[in-house]
Amino acid sequence: MSMDLFAIPIEKLRGVSTQKSGELHALGVLSIGDLLEYYPFRYEDYRLREFGEVKDGEKITVQGTVAAPPSLQRYGRTARLLCRITVEGLLITAVWFNRAFLKDQLTVGRDIIVTGKWDQRRRQITVADSEFPDRGAAKSGTLQPVYSVGGNITQNWLRKKIDEALTQYGAMIPEILPAAIVHKHELIPRREAILRIHHPENTHEGQEARRRMVYEELFLFELKLQAYRAANRKQPDGIAHPISGEEIRKFAMALPFELTDDQKQVINEITYDMKRPYAMNRLLQGDVGSGKTIVSAIALYSSIRAGYQGALMVPTEILAEQHYRSLSKLFEPYGIQVALLTGSLTDRKRRDILASLQMGLIDIVIGTHALIQDDVIFRNLGLVVTDEQHRFGVNQRSVLRRKGLNPDVLSMTATPIPRTLAITVFGDMDVSTIKERPKGRKPIKTYWVKQEKMDQVLGFIRREAELGHQAFFICPLIEESEKLDVQNAIDLHVQLGLALPDLKIGLLHGRMSAAEKEQAMAEFAAGQTTVLVSTTVVEVGVDVPNATLMIVMDADRFGLSQLHQLRGRVGRSEFQSYCVLIANPKSENGQERMKAMTDTDDGFEIARRDLELRGPGEFFGTKQSGVPEFRLANLIEDFAVLEQARDDAAELTALPEFWTSPAYDALREFLRREASLQAEPLD
Ligand code: ADP
Ligand code: MG
Repeated sequence: MSMDLFAIPIEKLRGVSTQKSGELHALGVLSIGDLLEYYPFRYEDYRLREFGEVKDGEKITVQGTVAAPPSLQRYGRTARLLCRITVEGLLITAVWFNRAFLKDQLTVGRDIIVTGKWDQRRRQITVADSEFPDRGAAKSGTLQPVYSVGGNITQNWLRKKIDEALTQYGAMIPEILPAAIVHKHELIPRREAILRIHHPENTHEGQEARRRMVYEELFLFELKLQAYRAANRKQPDGIAHPISGEEIRKFAMALPFELTDDQKQVINEITYDMKRPYAMNRLLQGDVGSGKTIVSAIALYSSIRAGYQGALMVPTEILAEQHYRSLSKLFEPYGIQVALLTGSLTDRKRRDILASLQMGLIDIVIGTHALIQDDVIFRNLGLVVTDEQHRFGVNQRSVLRRKGLNPDVLSMTATPIPRTLAITVFGDMDVSTIKERPKGRKPIKTYWVKQEKMDQVLGFIRREAELGHQAFFICPLIEESEKLDVQNAIDLHVQLGLALPDLKIGLLHGRMSAAEKEQAMAEFAAGQTTVLVSTTVVEVGVDVPNATLMIVMDADRFGLSQLHQLRGRVGRSEFQSYCVLIANPKSENGQERMKAMTDTDDGFEIARRDLELRGPGEFFGTKQSGVPEFRLANLIEDFAVLEQARDDAAELTALPEFWTSPAYDALREFLRREASLQAEPLD
């Protein structure tokens, strides 16, 4: 389409030199379309106001008349220009710094508009900006957009270029939302919205412009998501696992505990999906310690019983080994072959496992991202489970899935996120949730103590040890770093050994070899060591039910979700468990986090606060996690709009005629551009 503003390079705009275009490119502005959608992040308010409307010390813009000749004072290199101005009959003083050249222009009787900080007591404005109406005061009376700039690009230059682009190309901005939607939500036309977002006449107009563009962003995003899905959804090309409910019941009866109602419910949801000939794509979320592993084990068992292989991918070797140990034991009586595949196997062992896997001699393989290497080939992969799935990128998950012919996929996470947000972030997945914890679990008691209280902490360890329980002691980094004043695990191990001479203390950190790590973990799991000094390698998934005390050094260095994960290593039995956060946080944010941790041990609440404190980008980690980045929309603040946009998109895509309508044609161009920005469509 010749009207495509994104096809017009930015160099077409007058005054965009090679150097300037390079700098614009660095800001992500390659085309006229990009420039028009380069939105301000705030506005500078130059609207005229009355003194009554502002408080002392606030910014104000007023129009007045020069009442007396100005005076100029110099202090060293500073020039101070003072001038009496009458504003609405009130005599005030305007003060400029280093604007000596204005002196001759301030002639008595001339009109002037000044913007600056208002000092009520002295009736004085410290001027940041001034304009003379007889020279055409362009800024005065307006909200001026403030853009993020870089390189040699200045605010004023960018404002001018955007204004030129608006004048020259503004009329070409197409409407892309279906008329029915624009009408339904009373949105302003696209052209006007883009103009108004750069130059709102007033706050309300700015809000309306933003509302329109936020809706559009989220609607297009949802539409794309649902368009991809609509294609897959209806295709019965998945695996229909023939599963016998009787067999599952028998398996569950043999467990050493009774499944919680929530566990039973999610198992029903999962096995229902697995029986059907559509590829399952389900997210299982449940707080730390809620018992997700056994749910995945039952799903794996079902797949094996139906004659397929299963894979369980986890983010760390420690977790892979733990799952390997517990699942081997669990499945042994059934003659199910479980194998472990990690990066630290010997070549021979690895080749052996790969061959057995390909021949179908192995039923279940558990591993790290070693599972997604090219030479890992399954005979007939029926179910893929990823544990702590937020640790994996979208691509990693889909690589494993492609090792089978549309296998069922179960993703598990302990980072609970609001359902709608989950759907946005992970695609249109089905979501199962475990809310209750196993019976008899007591809430973990959490304390926040200052570093000076170390003696008490040691006393705490002794007391738990006397009860026959164990403790984790987490330190942030493994080696002395000059930049960060943090405890070092190796030192701490020595210190604790001296302070608690009669206790056996283990050590675990990332620099140890796989075999050393495995041994340290195994000794702790077997109760041979009482305290495990460790870096965050134990953060996710580790399950040692006899551990009742989690101590975190320099806890304020961790994010909230990470602290909650660490805390989740205890409270895995009927014993009362404790979490002690040692921290002297300097920042307010650090204090907030400590407070949040002592306030609640509900993972959903923690996730909510974490989102608040960090924002969605950081919350979900990397871009890889699949969280879309929006220009204007904020997944938290614009949550209601997101839900609305999702419903609208669903309604629209459900109509067969939509796909051949002119509305879709207009949209397609935008969707294509968006799709090309994202390397791979969401799977
Ligand atoms: P997470 O959801 O954090 O992965 P796990 O699956 O590791 O939790 O389970 C935590 C602990 O609770 C494990 O020791 C597990 O054996 C135990 N567990 C799981 N389900 C139950 C249950 N219904 N009753 C009692 N204990 C359970
Ligand atoms: Mg787990």
